[in-house]
Amino acid sequence: MEKSIIIIGAGIAGLSAGCYGQMNGYDTCIFEMDTKPGGCCTSWKRRGYTIDGCLHWLTGSSPGQSFYRLWEEVGAVQGRTFFDHEEYARIEGREGKVFIVYTDVNRLERHMKDLAPEDKDVIEEFAKGIRTMINFPMPVEKAPELFGPIDRLKMMSKFLPYLPLFRKFGKMTIQDFAQRFKNPFLRQAFPLMVNLQNRPSFPMLAFLATLAWMDQKTAGFPLGGSLEFAQAIERRYLALGGEIHYKSRVVKILVENNRAVGVRMADGSEHRSDIVISAADGRTTIFDMLDGKYINNKIQGYYDKLPVTPSVIYIGLGAARSFEEVPRTVTGIDYPLDEPITIGGQERKRLGVQMYNFDPSLAPAGKTVVKVMFASDYEYWKKLKQDPKRYKTEKEQIADKVVALLDRRFPGLAAQVEMRDVATPMTFERYTGNWQGTFLGWLISTKTLRMRMSKTLPGLKNFYMAGQWVEPGGSAEKVSGQKSVTIVST
Ligand SMILES: Cc1cc2nc3c(=O)[nH]c(=O)nc-3n(C[C@H](O)[C@H](O)[C@H](O)COP(=O)(O)OP(=O)(O)OC[C@H]3O[C@@H](n4cnc5c(N)ncnc54)[C@H](O)[C@@H]3O)c2cc1C
Repeated sequence: MEKSIIIIGAGIAGLSAGCYGQMNGYDTCIFEMDTKPGGCCTSWKRRGYTIDGCLHWLTGSSPGQSFYRLWEEVGAVQGRTFFDHEEYARIEGREGKVFIVYTDVNRLERHMKDLAPEDKDVIEEFAKGIRTMINFPMPVEKAPELFGPIDRLKMMSKFLPYLPLFRKFGKMTIQDFAQRFKNPFLRQAFPLMVNLQNRPSFPMLAFLATLAWMDQKTAGFPLGGSLEFAQAIERRYLALGGEIHYKSRVVKILVENNRAVGVRMADGSEHRSDIVISAADGRTTIFDMLDGKYINNKIQGYYDKLPVTPSVIYIGLGAARSFEEVPRTVTGIDYPLDEPITIGGQERKRLGVQMYNFDPSLAPAGKTVVKVMFASDYEYWKKLKQDPKRYKTEKEQIADKVVALLDRRFPGLAAQVEMRDVATPMTFERYTGNWQGTFLGWLISTKTLRMRMSKTLPGLKNFYMAGQWVEPGGSAEKVSGQKSVTIVST
């Protein structure tokens, strides 16, 4: 049996693969190009503030949910406190209308009926969908790749009660469902619930599941932030005997007789192992590290045709103000601007702001981290980056504009801002290597929601892929749940 594994990347997928590899008796070693673990699951410090660059919620944050056991196995939740929000988001309209997306399903239903009594039936259907998803059995015991006929039968029998729900919502996007509201405000506000504005293609089923977990208080925010969360998994991995090398970029996967046998690093050194797992960017892995030699039309089709989740401009501010009075939300307050403004080459009519007033550890006492995020076009930033001066100026101007806009909404804020930080799609690309600076890989849609992507490549033995490029929609729990890759032995 093969005993050694090299893992490329110390994101959540790579760290988890390492933990499960060690637990299953392999000697594993991770090579990570950055100086710290986490990949996309990260936070960074600026002038005494910690900007959290990732988790809004962690699925499986409490023992009631099946993912929790998985987080325990990789040491991520022990001793960690999660903050469970009462509100998922606030969507504001003009004329003072506010759609509060409560995490408690009963409260949400009552609030929606107050807002739009004429939509009683559709609202009840929505609330029923959330309640049905509460008990949905997320299959985490075994990875689907390892399922035999009996596992499949068992899974089908567990899924049977959910078939009507799947039939009703399976092909429906959040935008499709919104169209059913008679109330014009709710029709407009409903699709904006998904935290990246302008994602009307988001599947209803995935959203119902998210709200079900919120209701059950098992999708909390890990206090301390995303980097601490990733570091806990790193600690577990090291305690299991794993090895990590930072500042170690892999440039090639070594192949002999169509079998992966190790990796070559940017400094030219080579390391050998029985198995190689890439938990790094999919495109780089397939087309650069393996020179595109192990591919078929299906996989090529993904990279030619499937859209990726758009990258973002991520503006972090540190304000000498508590914002005690601002409601605590999972994804923030989304409101219409008095007049449109151009940010990152695109006209913006709304602004989504999140106050991290629910985690005092992220800022000095009495102060708060404020975050604004806009989906943004990768190509725009790539072009701009060719002129470093213009790139820097653009980032400064964005910070100026955002502070000015927020000052109108929260008077006095401009004078209280003592830290500004702007990350762009180029920043995400530089730090994590993800294609087009995306942070969730393939865009989740009704088409990709249940898409199974192969975790091996055609014709290449002893090689596996893990992470968001083989799990559409990414997210921490999905990429950590791919434990199969380390226990399959070819
Ligand atoms: C703004 C934002 C919000 C998010 N919100 C949530 C949320 O609320 N809940 C949730 O569950 N998820 C959320 N996510 C998504 C989640 O963080 C990702 O889907 C997940 O962390 C991806 O993990 P991964 O290990 O697959 O990939 P990555 O994190 O991309 O890890 C890949 C690693 O490989 C390394 N690497 C790349 N190339 C090389 C190379 N050549 N050599 C060596 N190392 C290399 C990278 O440096 C990186 O560390 C969010 C992400 C962001 C940025």
